[in-house]
Amino acid sequence: MTTINRRDLGKLSLGGIAAAGIGTATGSQAIPGVASATDNTPHSAHVTGIANRPADLPAAKGHRVVVVGGGWSGMTIAKYLKVNDPELDVVLIERRAVFISHPISGAWLAGLMPMEPLMRSYLDAAAANNYIFFNASLIDLDRAQRKVYTDQGWLAYDDLVLAPGLDYDYGTFGVDDPTAVNDLKTRYPAGFMSASEHISLNAKVRNFKGGTFVLTAPPGIFRCSATPYERACLIASVFKREKIAGKVVLIDPREEPAVKAEGFLAAFDELHSDTIEYMSSTEIESIDPETRTIVIGFDDIVFDDAAIYPRIRGARLLEYLGLVDPASAQKEAAIDRFAYNATPGGVMDEHVYLAGDCRPMPFSKSGNTAYTEGKYLAALIAARAKGSTVAWESPQTICYSIVGIEPMAGIMVRTKYKYDATADNWDYEDNFAVHERDREKADKAFEWAETHLDDMFS
Ligand SMILES: Cc1cc2nc3c(=O)[nH]c(=O)nc-3n(C[C@H](O)[C@H](O)[C@H](O)COP(=O)(O)OP(=O)(O)OC[C@H]3O[C@@H](n4cnc5c(N)ncnc54)[C@H](O)[C@@H]3O)c2cc1C
Repeated sequence: MTTINRRDLGKLSLGGIAAAGIGTATGSQAIPGVASATDNTPHSAHVTGIANRPADLPAAKGHRVVVVGGGWSGMTIAKYLKVNDPELDVVLIERRAVFISHPISGAWLAGLMPMEPLMRSYLDAAAANNYIFFNASLIDLDRAQRKVYTDQGWLAYDDLVLAPGLDYDYGTFGVDDPTAVNDLKTRYPAGFMSASEHISLNAKVRNFKGGTFVLTAPPGIFRCSATPYERACLIASVFKREKIAGKVVLIDPREEPAVKAEGFLAAFDELHSDTIEYMSSTEIESIDPETRTIVIGFDDIVFDDAAIYPRIRGARLLEYLGLVDPASAQKEAAIDRFAYNATPGGVMDEHVYLAGDCRPMPFSKSGNTAYTEGKYLAALIAARAKGSTVAWESPQTICYSIVGIEPMAGIMVRTKYKYDATADNWDYEDNFAVHERDREKADKAFEWAETHLDDMFS
């Protein structure tokens, strides 16, 4: 039986997003659903050396939109700016030289596919879509002068989109000592930010000799709310296939999985009860990487290996640039929640936009959300450059998870979001989940990833 269930994007708290009136640079204008920020001290750039020279790039041939961050958000926005208006001059700034996808990396972890399809060339994307790829790191911003500073020089923009993603916040585990944080990052990487983490995790699973392998799901709204649960199923499947006498312990502060709860709980119970121990409603008090000990209440868990996923927060760079909402528990961006303009100190910057996982709205932090949001935002920026606009569209979250590999089996969820101005809340709209696992939904996980990667990179 197909189950359609409203709890499916789980216990993500969609409510309670406070709206506040904000002013614009040209006058005071109340806008519903806008983050409030208290400090609008203008941030001025402090750079020297090569960063203080003009970047070695072609001169702008028209209205220049600079997009920072070549993840799912930035890649979609760069492409669709050109699709909406080929006359726009688009520059994508990304610090990585090669794109490696997070989505579908679980299939690679489980040995179901090679690494190569996850890897894409930024150069191919730029050539196919006629924009400039600038392999550099953003280090500073001067919003008054409309200049971004990178480690390869500065460039001017007419509009700027920042999509730098997230950072980890280990402090929420009670781990503040830099040595302990570094130990956790290096020896027990979460596997939610970088390709190096994925490679380390893959080697850990492949080389595991048996014992307890710990995974953690963080509190709050975290990147890809299905992945800790899917990963538990995939690692358990590998242990079974490779005849490794290992147990996967998944520690979760929630009562049940954050998403697709019914489908994941059924998979834990019916496919992996001999391998997965799901510790729900379990808060981590502290972790000692040296003794490999996790303290939870009165108990300790000693692990043989682990991927420790701490709470996430908006990219630290945004805090330095003064673009974070001080009221945000996860230090996410201060933006107009419909037009995505930066609103530091409650004052809208009409030329700076922020998107992707660093957004403050309680949408699922997923690739599909970033992709659909990115298409809308690209259309908006392109329209505005011509003095027009487009109506707000909800992003869409679609997520397929592989829960078994012999035989292959998947589950799925899909939703959109709506804003209730009276209650000043976000809620789900058109929420649909299928908890009954089958081969078709596992196949769809591959198909979805390939279709979207192909679209962004060609
Ligand atoms: C293991 C895993 C599995 C997942 N599976 C799915 C899935 O099945 N479906 C789904 O929809 N989503 C999935 N996701 C979630 C999805 O990957 C993220 O939501 C998505 O990547 C967010 O896109 P983003 O562009 O906001 O951030 P990112 O993809 O993190 O991109 C940010 C980019 O900004 C760059 N950057 C940061 N700072 C700078 C700087 N100063 N200068 C230059 N560049 C900078 C970074 O290098 C990075 O390339 C998964 C995530 C993980 C970790």
